[in-house]
Amino acid sequence: MFGMVVPATANWKKIGIMGGTFDPIHYGHLHIAECSRHRFGLEKVIFVPAGNPVHKSRKSITSSARRMEMTALAIRSNPNFDMSEVEVRRSGPTYTVDTLEELHREGIGDQIFFITGADAILEILTWKNVVRVFELCEFIAITRPGYSFKEMDRVLTKLTKPQRDRIHFNETGGILISSTDIRRRVLCGEPIKYLVPPEVEGYINENGLYFPEGEEFE
Ligand code: ATP
Ligand code: MG
Repeated sequence: MFGMVVPATANWKKIGIMGGTFDPIHYGHLHIAECSRHRFGLEKVIFVPAGNPVHKSRKSITSSARRMEMTALAIRSNPNFDMSEVEVRRSGPTYTVDTLEELHREGIGDQIFFITGADAILEILTWKNVVRVFELCEFIAITRPGYSFKEMDRVLTKLTKPQRDRIHFNETGGILISSTDIRRRVLCGEPIKYLVPPEVEGYINENGLYFPEGEEFE
């Protein structure tokens, strides 16, 4: 059975956690957060930019300060969205289990839903302390173009029934946007308008993000 972790300050809220590198944050992230909030009756969705992600092989990740600024700009028009610095405050690699423990300690809410795209769910068995992760949160799994729920069977059969019951599938939501494609577009001088909020687009342009150092497009 799952132990219930209830901090002294618990307010019995249903909270969504949207973790990601957010390099940069885009409408794909914002849309799945909003759809999950609506569908599962979440009172808030907390965006948690990753500090030093363990699952990312890409060498140069934009500084956490910049990724946080972009996230703050992107969510500010939605009163149901918030951001936590819990991961960027921590030095060393980021593990979801540590983040969830810390958010619990902070008394962020009673029932925590970790919102994640299909690609991230497929990696769940490689996460540190999966058993504890499932005690601390439930999952909202969103399809993402290019990933199907069928592939997930391989992963799901390795979980226990109570664990599987804590994964809620949401087939509506994922849209064809990725941060990788946005970085590529900036590099090639292609538009990113309508893929990211205008504030994020402005921030990327003003700070010359995603160009190799010293190079700019005419
Ligand atoms: P990158 O291309 O750099 O990996 P990304 O677009 O995948 O960036 P992340 O910050 O890696 O963005 O993703 C954070 C979370 O959001 C992950 O759970 C990911 O699966 C999910 N996600 C990102 N984009 C989408 C999308 N378009 N539809 C559904 N889920 C998404
Ligand atoms: Mg990704």
